[in-house]
Amino acid sequence: MQYRRFGKTEMMLSQLSLGCMQFTGESPEETAIETVEHAVACGVNHIETARGYGNSEERVGKALKRIFARIPREDLYITTKIGPSSQVDDFKRNFELSMSLLGLDYLDNLDFHGPGSLEQVMPAMRDDGCLGYVRKLQAEGVVRHFGFSTHGYPSGVMDLVNTGEFASINLHYYYFYQGQREVVQRARELDMGVFIISPNNQGGRLHSPTDELREATAPLHPMAFNHRWLLNQDEVHTLSFGPKNPEQVDGNIAEADYDGTGPAREEFDRVLARVEACYRAVLPGTFCTTCNKCLPCPANIDIPGLLNLRNMDSAFAMSDYARGRYSKVGSGGAWVKGVKGDQCTKCGDCLPRCPENLDIPELLWQAHQSLETGEIGRPIWDHEGDLLKNDLENR
Ligand code: SF4
Ligand code: SF4
Repeated sequence: MQYRRFGKTEMMLSQLSLGCMQFTGESPEETAIETVEHAVACGVNHIETARGYGNSEERVGKALKRIFARIPREDLYITTKIGPSSQVDDFKRNFELSMSLLGLDYLDNLDFHGPGSLEQVMPAMRDDGCLGYVRKLQAEGVVRHFGFSTHGYPSGVMDLVNTGEFASINLHYYYFYQGQREVVQRARELDMGVFIISPNNQGGRLHSPTDELREATAPLHPMAFNHRWLLNQDEVHTLSFGPKNPEQVDGNIAEADYDGTGPAREEFDRVLARVEACYRAVLPGTFCTTCNKCLPCPANIDIPGLLNLRNMDSAFAMSDYARGRYSKVGSGGAWVKGVKGDQCTKCGDCLPRCPENLDIPELLWQAHQSLETGEIGRPIWDHEGDLLKNDLENR
């Protein structure tokens, strides 16, 4: 296992972190406990859960009790997350419950759970709000470090980062969604820890890849490809994985020793060139780089988010993932923003801002047709697949 300095917290975290969201509900408690124990035995030293994850904290607490009978408390770093509230007493009750369930007398890292913008979290950021309470806990040594997790838009997340109040960030950023690139770079400037949420699942359901994607990233599994892409960036420190049992720990830990050098790096570089060749071949002149420069859209369309789904659907047949995400657009949930592509008014505001000179209204319409109705298929894999494969084999 490789370990990385988690920004200004100075914690040396394993580059793979155990996410414990799945240890909820009816899943067997003993399996959850054994999974945590096995991950720690494999070198994982960062365990992440949340007050909002049902009985996850309780199960993690039971696992920690067993583990700390064998190793010192200081050998592990524990994160939990609590939603910021305008009522500091609610936050305080939640924190005390978390600590009781985890069985800890100090917490390594406390995150605000899920704010998407400064405006959304503002009541909690006051000295007499949740932030003031967290600072008091830090002064008492009960909480070591304070960060936040987010599913928000890059602009809103950037505002939160720029407050300078957070030592770390836990966010969505993957090869197949690079829209938070500038946020991650800004976090590096501020020496923040950067923790990637759910790279295997939210990063494109890479645990269940399509044949097209598997072929493009061969001989690497798509999960390994995405892990290496992230770990090649110094500003990224640790990636979460969420096994349901000890066997799945072994399946997820393949990249634990990857250090971005040698034959493993050369192999990655070859695969990356091939994946990007696929994009160029399938989407000539219509590939969205998710640079965000076209935003804001007055019709509240998340242009990069929707065109990124089109990229994945068209190039790698990642239709289940893309259509699943698209079906949630406009539902008001925190994960998928704005409205659907058919709401574009063709006002043209975005066009001069796109460095790729994309015909954004047309591509949004195509994305809508494909992701909503399936009327436009994958132009090359479906109709000229052999041609593309031959072309790639000659590169
Ligand atoms: S043309 Fe469409 S996508 Fe572009 S800014 Fe106007 S409404 Fe938004
Ligand atoms: S500016 Fe163009 S390339 Fe960049 S995110 Fe918008 S549509 Fe995509």
